[in-house]
Amino acid sequence: MELEEFRREIVRGGRRMVERGLAHGSAGNLSLRIPGEELIVISPSHVPYERMEPEQVSVVDLKGNLLEGLTPSTELPMHLAVYRARKEVGAVVHAHPVCACALAAVGLGIPPFLEEVVVLFGGEVEVAEYAPPGSAELAGNVVRALGRKNAVLLSNHGTLCCGPDLDRALETSEALERTCRSYILSLLLGGPRYLPEEVVRLQRELFEALGGL
Ligand SMILES: [Zn+2]
Repeated sequence: MELEEFRREIVRGGRRMVERGLAHGSAGNLSLRIPGEELIVISPSHVPYERMEPEQVSVVDLKGNLLEGLTPSTELPMHLAVYRARKEVGAVVHAHPVCACALAAVGLGIPPFLEEVVVLFGGEVEVAEYAPPGSAELAGNVVRALGRKNAVLLSNHGTLCCGPDLDRALETSEALERTCRSYILSLLLGGPRYLPEEVVRLQRELFEALGGL
């Protein structure tokens, strides 16, 4: 794929985030690793998704140097930290959806209360400790809480999901918001019953067998 096509993917993905309620305006950000290169493409800072053009999308090396496009998203350090820690990750999506933000605000992670929690996310979705947006400290906290899974909540902030490609990372972000909604509803109904540990272990094995992303 040409660089231009990767930049178009970011524009397309950003519009999908708005359509699916994952982001509004220019909030949140998304990136793609360019296979075989030490480069990523990432949404630029403060450009609304509806008005974003491919040539505005930032092209950055893994050290964070801007090579082409506008100033990258302020959350660039968090994206780079995930790509450095997880060689198999091809795309990262950071969003501010309503239900996930509510759980992130009260510091509640998502335990395995539905079968799909482990199958989709690799296990309990944890809450990364708070640090200011865009900081290296936040990037470290996110990588630690993400571990080998593909979704994490950011305390008082939002979500981060990763995948082998952008479609999968976006699907996981959408699934995470649905799961957060179910979890909040189950808490309101008196609290969920949790899955037996044996089931969680088997589903974790299935997640790993499917590539762990
Ligand atoms: Zn954010």
